[in-house]
Amino acid sequence: MRNGDDVLVLGAGVIGLTTAVCLAEAGARIRLWAADLPPATTSVAAGALWGPDFTEPGFGWSLVTRDELTALASEPSSGVRLCRGREVSDLSAELPPWVDELPELRVCEPDELPEGMLVGLWTTVPVVNMPVYLDYLTRRLADAGVEIERRRVATLAEAAARAPVVVNCTGVGAVELAGDTDLHPVRGQHVVVENPGIDEFYIAAGLAPQWAGYIPHGDHVVLGGVAIPHDWSLEPDPAIAEGIVARCAAIEPRLAGARVIEHRVGLRPQRTRPRLDEEPVDGARCVHNYGHGGMGVSLSWGCARAVRNLLAG
Ligand SMILES: Cc1cc2nc3c(=O)[nH]c(=O)nc-3n(C[C@H](O)[C@H](O)[C@H](O)COP(=O)(O)OP(=O)(O)OC[C@H]3O[C@@H](n4cnc5c(N)ncnc54)[C@H](O)[C@@H]3O)c2cc1C
Repeated sequence: MRNGDDVLVLGAGVIGLTTAVCLAEAGARIRLWAADLPPATTSVAAGALWGPDFTEPGFGWSLVTRDELTALASEPSSGVRLCRGREVSDLSAELPPWVDELPELRVCEPDELPEGMLVGLWTTVPVVNMPVYLDYLTRRLADAGVEIERRRVATLAEAAARAPVVVNCTGVGAVELAGDTDLHPVRGQHVVVENPGIDEFYIAAGLAPQWAGYIPHGDHVVLGGVAIPHDWSLEPDPAIAEGIVARCAAIEPRLAGARVIEHRVGLRPQRTRPRLDEEPVDGARCVHNYGHGGMGVSLSWGCARAVRNLLAG
């Protein structure tokens, strides 16, 4: 991409903001339109914990993002920090092949595994306080001269009429915008509670639609989780919230009486794999960058760089 090119980025979640930062800092002239501002996106509802992707090119994207987030952890205003915690699983007693990528790894002793869990490990990874992080990205974008404009587009052609390059980072919005039948929402819900003194994260991975997971962010802890496919509701469900607190309190009893501060709901943009490719739309170049499911934070910098490289080609 040449300096001074006009690029219209659609979307102000973690994918749109990171992509816009990456392109603007590479010298592109950026406009960013979003139907919803960052505090009203799915991205703000994420926990958020960095984790490796299991596929290619996702694996590479996740490693790029890990390194970028690790570097940001030394900036207190970024909302990113390194946190130690346990990842456990009831899928298999074998350690997954990617564990070598996890820093400060130690396999859990049997008495560190909750009932039913077959394997677990301790590691130290970036955790992201999403409201603070999205503010940080917005400020970084403003420093590069880009303000977010609140504006929904009805079609990609509408965007293509306004810029020679459009980058579509609309999350589940791409179901309509790109007519993508592979993309659908997987609803998630979190309960945010006052931190009773927890400084380690915990996450159980499995195939079940509900699990226990908690991530401390200083004064508060984000508790999850659920995955409900094809559910578009953004209303917190009290019964789901109760189940989340109960499952987390069974692992960490101090969470049982913690005061609830907030409920957060988000729609993971689920697809067979993230879409990162280019198509012509009415004479404009349209690059798609959406469909990151439950991994958008973990893939964000790798995908933003891939968009930058695609446009440079
Ligand atoms: C409960 C929960 C927990 C999660 N935890 C993690 C985690 O620990 N780690 C991790 O890596 N990921 C996690 N995720 C996944 C991650 O949050 C998502 O993958 C990511 O937020 C998707 O970001 P996005 O920018 O693509 O979409 P969004 O955040 O949904 O942003 C989409 C943007 O596009 C805009 N838009 C949509 N349609 C239009 C239109 N027609 N015109 C203009 N603008 C439009 C929207 O208004 C919005 O600004 C979690 C998700 C949930 C729900």
